[in-house]
Order: sequence, then C-alpha cells, then structure tokens
Amino acid sequence: MSYNPYDNVLATVEKAAKLLGYTPEDYEAVKFPERELHVSVPVRMDDGSVRVFQGYRIQHSTVRGPAKGGVRYHPGVNKDEVRALAAWMTFKCAVVDIPYGGGKGGVAVDPASLSLGELQRLTRRFTSMIAPIIGPDRDIPAPDVGTNAEVMGWMMDTYSMLNGHAIPAAVTGKPIPLGGSQGRGEATGRGVMLCTKYICEKLDRPLAGAAVAVQGMGNVGSVSARLLHEQGARVVAVSDVSGGIYKAAGLAIPAVCQYLSKRGNLLSGYEEAGMTRIGNEELLEADVTVLIPAALENQINAENAGRIRAQVIVEGANGPTTVEADEILERNGTVLVPDILANAGGVVVSYFEWVQNLQALEWEEAEVNAKLEKAMQKAFDSVYGIAAEKQTTLRMGAYLLALKRVVEALRFRGIWP
Ligand code: GLU
Repeated sequence: MSYNPYDNVLATVEKAAKLLGYTPEDYEAVKFPERELHVSVPVRMDDGSVRVFQGYRIQHSTVRGPAKGGVRYHPGVNKDEVRALAAWMTFKCAVVDIPYGGGKGGVAVDPASLSLGELQRLTRRFTSMIAPIIGPDRDIPAPDVGTNAEVMGWMMDTYSMLNGHAIPAAVTGKPIPLGGSQGRGEATGRGVMLCTKYICEKLDRPLAGAAVAVQGMGNVGSVSARLLHEQGARVVAVSDVSGGIYKAAGLAIPAVCQYLSKRGNLLSGYEEAGMTRIGNEELLEADVTVLIPAALENQINAENAGRIRAQVIVEGANGPTTVEADEILERNGTVLVPDILANAGGVVVSYFEWVQNLQALEWEEAEVNAKLEKAMQKAFDSVYGIAAEKQTTLRMGAYLLALKRVVEALRFRGIWP
C-alpha cells in the first residue's frame, strides 16, 4: 500500500472526533482542504533552456484566521503531501492558540541543483502565480524544508512589487533587515528543545547527560541538537541525506553545526576523533533516551517502529511517524511529543513576526524568546493535562485540544450562506 500522508491526518482526526463525541456534521468541513491551487512554473535556466516545475499552495482551513504555513522545495513534493502539511498547520496553530488557520505550499524541485539565479527566478515566478490567494490577511507563507530566509525575502519583494508597495506582513521568516523577527531562525529548534526539557521533567529523567539522536541536520535538527547540547544533553548521533555519525561520549555539536553551515557541506565530509559512521536505520534504532526525527514524513513506520529503542520521541519534522507506528510505540511504552506541539515554535515566532510587521514594531530577541517559551509551556501543559485526563497519548491529547478549538470556531461562524 502506498503511503498517503493525508490519510494519516484523516485517521487521527476521526479518532479525536470520536473521543470528543462529535457527530459527522460537526467536523465534516475540517476533513477537506478549503482551497487548492496547482501551478506549473516555467523557469529560464542559466543555459537558456526552459524547465517547468509543479507547484502548489493549499489552504486547509481559514476558520480560525488567515491560512499560515511554509513553502517546501523538495523533489518529492506532491499534492497529497502539501494537503497533509496544510492540515497539520491548522491543528498546530490551534494547539498553540494563535489566530491562524493552516496552509502550505511547495514546488517539486531539488533546490541544491539550481544556481542562485535560477532559484530566485523560480521563487519569484511561483510567488506571482500564487499571489491571487496569498496576502497578510489571507495566507502567509514561511520557510520549510529546502527554503530559507533569503527565499522569503524574494517572496516578500515579489508580492510587494506586484502590489506597488512594501508589504512585510505578507511573508514570515524573512531576513531581519526586511522585517524578519529576532529569534525566528532558531524558533522551531528552540521549541523542540523546550518540549524535550518539559517531557524529561514530567518523566523525572534528567536532560543533563541524556543520550540524544537527531535525524536530519537542517534548520530544525541542527538548532535542536545545538540547544540540547547547551542544556547538557549528550547528542550521540546525528544524520543528514549523506548518512549519520555516532559517538557514545557525545559529538562536538558546535563543530558539527559550524561545518554544516557552509553551503553544500554534508556530514559525509565531517571528521571527529572517536566517531563512527552509521546509516539512517541505525540512527533511528540507536540506544538513546531521546530520538528527534527532524527530516521528512514516514520515517518511523510499521516496518521499523518495533525496533525503536528511544524512550522518548520528540517530533521536529512534520508527520515523521505513521498511524501504524504510533500504535506500536504506544504498546511499547514509548512517549512521543507530537509534531503539532513539538515543532510549533517556528509558527509561533512567525506569528510574532507578523504582529510586529502589522504594528511596525521591532521586539528584542530576549522578549521574543520569553514569549515563545510562555506559549510552548502553556501548550505543552494543556496537551499533557488532556492526555492524562483521557488516558491517551500526547498526540491524541494535542488533537483533542486542536480539533475542539477549530470546531468551536466553526460553530460560531456557521456555514455561510
Ligand atoms: N514550516 C514551518 C512549519 O511546518 C513554519 C510555518 C510558519 O512559520 O508559518 O511549522
């Protein structure tokens, strides 16, 4: 059976709706994305040829506010994936209680295969093609896998030029000089670190000295690894597309991050005394206290879930664990902090960025981090409390909280006309 991430979303929503005692009419509208746009994006390549890339912007929900969510550049991007990612944004924004719905965009492309000029032309053409449905009060893009602050800067400029004036609030995760927020770059990883700290406290396991494995050393994974290292955790294994590295005594994470920060550098070229090279499966199945999947969907599935030895999983990525794997992990007593809570730090600070832009204000980093911490702690405590009360997993706790908020808003708005 081929894996469809949107089926994962629906299965989880159905289960939550049942536990909440909803009738189908209560949440029928939540099961379908509100609006989907599929665009074919022509780009003039440096050699004069023309390539056409498939792009999407999907708004799953605008019930609680404008759609919000990142734009992904990855060869595997397809409509079902963007649909799932958009729906996860709806529930993520509801869990942390920020006034947004959920959306997501993506282009099926390997950004590493493009020159900077090609990447910029692709971004500008894609932005112009989705421009009719985005905007500061409609749908606000942000970075995701394969995109970054520089790409967001081009998106903001393109949208602004099409409208004839600067509109910083149209995009978040921008470079600081364009109205980007302090702390946005590391916000997702900071949220992952905070959730790891909170769950370790609940389980009475000291984070200091705890062995941690991180799958994926992109923006989320590398910041999570660095901040956990700073908290005294022993990050023993990390990986990227080129493979993984392992060191029982703990890797020199600042050196690893420093190495990876150079454009094009991969872990396969990194060396450190005492480390060994490991594969992706070895990383996922490593004997650690905490496993942080921070790459893509469908990494922990029915096939390998039974071999996971970590006691705690904190999902830095969106959808890394399938529904089948969730059941296996629950049976085995693995505690999992779900994506829609664990990686919500990014969109929380995106919200702060949007608020600053709308008011033409600039907050200091300490203020942003303090507000982020407050939002994460509150969401974590709410989810933990609901899960304990209903004797269910933290994933279900998060969905119960989120779905209730979305359905409540839907009830007050009603179905127009
Ligand atoms: N792409 C990030 C996510 O999956 C951030 C979205 C945003 O900031 O809007 O949560």
